[in-house]
Amino acid sequence: MKIHLRQIPVEGLHLEGVEEPAVLDIHEPDILSAAPIRYALDLGLTAEGLFATGSLETEIGLRCVRCLEAFQYPIRVDDFAAQVELTGAETVDLTPSVREDILLTLPAHPRCDWNGAKVCRGAGEWTGGEGGKPTEREADAWEALDKLRVK
Ligand SMILES: [Zn+2]
Repeated sequence: MKIHLRQIPVEGLHLEGVEEPAVLDIHEPDILSAAPIRYALDLGLTAEGLFATGSLETEIGLRCVRCLEAFQYPIRVDDFAAQVELTGAETVDLTPSVREDILLTLPAHPRCDWNGAKVCRGAGEWTGGEGGKPTEREADAWEALDKLRVK
């Protein structure tokens, strides 16, 4: 996601578009696929560098930690913000910031029933982590955490 600095007028620039997911260069084993990234950004230049704020949207294919089924997990980052120092180059690449923000929104323990739209066939079993079956209390804690992450 390269930004040409000359495109940015003094008053700033609003930029919307779609970027191929390949720019994310994601090779995490748990990430099966990534949809194109829709972005809407406000760009501005100051003496300190390029500022970008806005939103990102995509969909990531994940594998459920319980039933191992693949499912689509929508990503929406509403408070994307990046500041990139200017190096004298004509372009600034926002990809590392975009990549980081998208990866940060992914659940640590992806569950296919994250939104309640389906019932996980592996529900009640524990297939993730190393410690074997969690206690009921632990399972509840993970559930609560998952719910928090979805928001
Ligand atoms: Zn599942």
